Amino acid sequence: MNILQKLRPSFALIPAVVLVVVITGAASRAAAQAGTGKTVVQKATEQFESSPLKTTSLDKDIWMFSGDGGNVTAIVADGSTLLIDSGVDSRVSELNAAIFKATWRPVTRLVNTHCHFDHTGGNVYFGSAGVTIIAQENVKKWLSLVQNVPFVGFRDGRYPTQALPTVTYSNRMTLRQEDQKLTLVNYGPAHTDGDTIIYISPANVAMVGDIFSNHFYPIIDLSTGGSIDGMIHALDQILAQTDERTKIVPGHGPVATRSDLQNYRDMLVEVRQRMKVLVAAGKTMDEAVAAAPTKDFDSEWGRGYVSPDVFVRMVFTSLREGSANR
Ligand SMILES: [Zn+2]
Repeated sequence: MNILQKLRPSFALIPAVVLVVVITGAASRAAAQAGTGKTVVQKATEQFESSPLKTTSLDKDIWMFSGDGGNVTAIVADGSTLLIDSGVDSRVSELNAAIFKATWRPVTRLVNTHCHFDHTGGNVYFGSAGVTIIAQENVKKWLSLVQNVPFVGFRDGRYPTQALPTVTYSNRMTLRQEDQKLTLVNYGPAHTDGDTIIYISPANVAMVGDIFSNHFYPIIDLSTGGSIDGMIHALDQILAQTDERTKIVPGHGPVATRSDLQNYRDMLVEVRQRMKVLVAAGKTMDEAVAAAPTKDFDSEWGRGYVSPDVFVRMVFTSLREGSANR
């Protein structure tokens, strides 16, 4: 057993497990397990553990690493590398080797775009090596908590101290990495309540975390404060801050353009509208799924580890909880 396994055994899957369970209860769990018999988290994890780790150059001194969880971005300065996200814990040594091969600089700072295991899995490794971890303040809260989901017999989730952010912010923060300015922004709860979008200028690159998965239905983590309205709000802000030349690094999938982001935002708005009609008509969640409100989008967006029916259940619950609060 290596040090990572000792520190963080396979409870790595917690946030998303909690998501699937908390947001929609047993029905969602059944839905998540429909078809292939695997949950969203199981499907995603299998993909993260088996995909080749790919290195892509985004700009002079900016690199993207993909395959081992969420996309990881590295910004290189004279004597250091600043990392955005840290992949899954089981592949962090491999990731670190790839980063060093591309950048020839040690990682000194790490920004987490949010609290999920496929973006923070390498935190123990980097934090133990003295890397400064930076995140929106709610990320620290979620990583510090014991997660407990009794009806699936699941209890764990407290990240060790060295994996926690030591520098946090609330709405906005600026960092410099040599010639590049990094603006970290939180637009309120969206994918979670601790999302960070990072704009890099003058390189004109934007890291948007799991607010955008290219090219499949997103997870909306209601258990940590996410909502469909918040996702769309954040996307509108990102669209306003970017241009047609901006390289957009999604949480998962290949680098995208602003028009890809616009197309995705428009799909979410349309699905939300259709689902609002179903919620207003008093449909149950199963009836909403049976109505197949995403049908014409499914060939484009429904082929990832979030199946159309799981996505419908997340949006339905988000809207129903939102209307219950009004
Ligand atoms: Zn996520």
